[in-house]
Amino acid sequence: MNIILLGAPGAGKGTQASRLREFYGFVHLSTGELLRAEIADKTELGRHIQGIIDAGFLVPDDVIFNMIAQKIEYHRDQMVLDGFPRNMSQAQSLDDLMGQLGLSLDHVVLIEVDETQLIKRITGRFTCSKCLTGYHQEFKPTQVAGVCDMCGSKDFIRRRDDSKETVMARLGVFKKETESVVPYYEAKGLLRRVDGMVHIDDVTKQIKDTLGI
Ligand code: AMP
Repeated sequence: MNIILLGAPGAGKGTQASRLREFYGFVHLSTGELLRAEIADKTELGRHIQGIIDAGFLVPDDVIFNMIAQKIEYHRDQMVLDGFPRNMSQAQSLDDLMGQLGLSLDHVVLIEVDETQLIKRITGRFTCSKCLTGYHQEFKPTQVAGVCDMCGSKDFIRRRDDSKETVMARLGVFKKETESVVPYYEAKGLLRRVDGMVHIDDVTKQIKDTLGI
């Protein structure tokens, strides 16, 4: 089974994709993570895309497609696509690729969260730089202020594109470009909507029930 997790920035796609990997053995393919790895490794591509990501805009389709196509061709099954596709052109390229490789796309899960909540979620999140445990200043603070619950580190990082200004740009891009893929997958009978406003565990349960796993 192959699925896409769709949703605005902050909807919880990454969290839910990680859980699908952990609990059900899916391969989590996140274009955002792949791009951030290029930046961390200071590759030529990483240098080229840093400014685009910091501004909250979309990285060019060909860059994204070259990166993700190899992964799809390699894994073929049990994939959760997180953050891809993000516009109609990417959705069509994905369809073509899946068709050529004879792979199935089984469900497109849209995690729905209202905008005020999205902004709160994104601007409050931070991560332990050592063990990468994720926190939120309001919804999931560390037990002892400034100390990671898991590894005791006092060093935390925030994504550069989680600033208030960039978040607004990212939400604008979602509305202008990404939302157009919703009716596309709806017409194909693949779209499943889940309520992303409830507790993380309940979102996971809705996804699990939707997928029938
Ligand atoms: P994410 O981690 O999915 O929120 O992605 C972070 C940033 O990476 C986005 O704001 C875009 O700048 C870029 N990005 C991730 N996936 C894509 C994609 N499929 N197409 C274009 N840009 C992307």
